[in-house]
Parts: sequence; structure tokens; C-alpha cells
Amino acid sequence: MEQRKYMQDDIWRFLYTRGVEDFDDMTSLSKDVRAALKAGFEVGNGIIKSNLTSKDGTRKWLIGFGKGADIETVLIPSPTDPKSGTVCVSSQVGCSLSCSFCHTGTQKLLRNLAANEILSQIMHAMRSVGDFPLEKGKRRNISNIVFMGQGEPLYNFRNVSAAISLLTSRSALNMARWRITLSTSGVAPLMERVGKDLGVGLAVSLHAVTDPLRDVLVPLNKQYPIKEVLNGCHKYLSHMPNESRHRRITFEYVMLDGVNDTPADARHLTRLIGQMPSHVNLIPFNPWPGSDYKPSTDANIQRFRKIVDEAGIACHVRLPKGQDIMAACGQLKSSEDRKRIRAAAKTLDPVQE
Ligand code: SF4
Repeated sequence: MEQRKYMQDDIWRFLYTRGVEDFDDMTSLSKDVRAALKAGFEVGNGIIKSNLTSKDGTRKWLIGFGKGADIETVLIPSPTDPKSGTVCVSSQVGCSLSCSFCHTGTQKLLRNLAANEILSQIMHAMRSVGDFPLEKGKRRNISNIVFMGQGEPLYNFRNVSAAISLLTSRSALNMARWRITLSTSGVAPLMERVGKDLGVGLAVSLHAVTDPLRDVLVPLNKQYPIKEVLNGCHKYLSHMPNESRHRRITFEYVMLDGVNDTPADARHLTRLIGQMPSHVNLIPFNPWPGSDYKPSTDANIQRFRKIVDEAGIACHVRLPKGQDIMAACGQLKSSEDRKRIRAAAKTLDPVQE
């Protein structure tokens, strides 16, 4: 193989620009080479274990990567063009952060996903909407990628960054960086690197405006309180050029009835983030079995939105998508095979920082 560079290029093109999953479909290679590839390698795209479609068109795949490493990936259709959409990608199997409003947080962290496992989720979605083969001038239906699925992407920085590198490489998936957003629950020391090393968008799951409440909703706050998270935001922004579409932070704020949805909370939020280019996404809480929280009323959500908007900060209410298939924000949990997950968790990989 090392002596046949042209063959490597062929294999690369089959994998990344044609989206081929089976060595037998690499038809320009000789039969012998295909047999050798099959004997020695695997494409490693995982196995689709379930494929659900919501009544609103949202799709959710349960993808297995072996030994209980099952994760969920969601394709959210665009409101203006149901054929195109945004892929919500998982970065870990389970999550270690236990945010109290999040279903995924009740699933113990099993392991980090490898770069190919992260990329495979996007490629599955691309195949499902006919984006392969990639061709110059051909319209692509996957318009955006968000790292907002299972796991904390900044606790798997090395693999997430390798996946983004292939995702944006001209010779691989060739996706523009401004179409990619990474969401963190506030791993303050690594937020700068999202701007400096990755150059993609940053979303911060804020959800509360005081440390005592955020300690409960997002327990990582005890380690990195709000002040440090906002510092991380400023450092991120310092690496984003003025003309970048990502020169603003998206703050995610889940609306929990009677918990964080008062006018005083809204005003406090505007004081916290008013000094930086930002945008607020209000997320109506998506209930899940066993959760203690209730969604805020529509009236309270609109009241909150108006206060933030009138302070000059763009504020939108995210329409819930895929609730009927548990694919909405905070509802993902690949708990199909819990016994195997628990068994495999005993050999937990250390979390990378
Ligand atoms: S909100 Fe994100 S970081 Fe928090 S538990 Fe859920 S998946 Fe983990």
C-alpha cells in the first residue's frame, strides 16, 4: 500500500467524497486489493440499530459502535426546506456531567467516541439525504452540524477536533467552519481553543444566572462558575475575526417553570451577557420520564424573550422538535441495552481534557 500512493488517494475519495461503506463498492480497485482490504480493515461506520422519524420530520438514529457503545444522532429538518437540515452529533457515550434537567445526564459515561465514530454520524445523515457523492456545484442537504447530542464535546477535545478537521478538510467532507457549532456546558479552560484551534461556533449552556441555581442545574458550575465561563467566552471571541459569522456566542437557556423563568432572571441575564456579541436561545423544557421539572408556560417564555430582546440581545424561542420520538433537546439517551453498558462502564476510559 505504501508504494501505491494513487491507491490511497482512491480509497480516500471512495470513503469521503463518495461515502462508500463497503470495500466491494470501490470498483476501481482490483479484486485482490479489495479482498486484502476486507481481510485487514473495516470502514467502521457503526451499525444502525434503530431509525425513527417523528411526525414533524425529525429523524433519530441509534448507532452501535460495539461493546455497548450505542449513541443517538438526530437530523432536524429545516423549517423552510424539509429536505435539508441540521445534524445534532453526540461526542460521548453517555455523559459525566449530570445536568439535572437532561435525560442524557442520567446515563453514565461509558467512553469517549473516536473521531471516526463522530464523523460516521454525520456521514450517515448525509447518506440518508442523498448528499453523496460530493460534487462541485451540487446542492448539499445537510446544511449545519451542531455538537449538542450526548456528551460534553470539550471533554473529548482530541477526537472532536480530529473529526472537525476531516469534516472541514477540502479533500474530505469540505464543510464550512461557520456551519459548525460546538456546545459546551461551560468547560471554561477549553473554550478559548474552540476559537483558536477549531474556528467553529460556540454555544454555551447557561440555563441559570446565579451560581447557586446553576450549581443545581449544571453541576459543572461548582468547578467553573458563571464568571469563569463568561471569561472563557471573551477568550473565545478574541480569536474570532470581526467578519466571522461566529463572532457572537449563542447562550442556551432551558425554560423551567418556577425555577429560572422570572422577569428578574431575564434582566439579570441581560446584565451578564450584554457586553458581548451574543444571541439567546430559549429552549422550552422537553419532559422525560422521571424528571422533576415542568416546562415554563408560553406566556412566561414570551415575557422572558421580550425582556432580553428589548435589551438589544437577539433572543429566539427554539421550537421543540422530535418530542414524540424523544429526540428533542435534553431527551437523548441510548439506554437500549443497559446491562451491557453497565458491564462495559467498568472499563471506563479516562476523560481527555
Ligand atoms: S446537558 Fe449536555 S453536558 Fe449536561 S448532562 Fe446533558 S448531555 Fe451532558
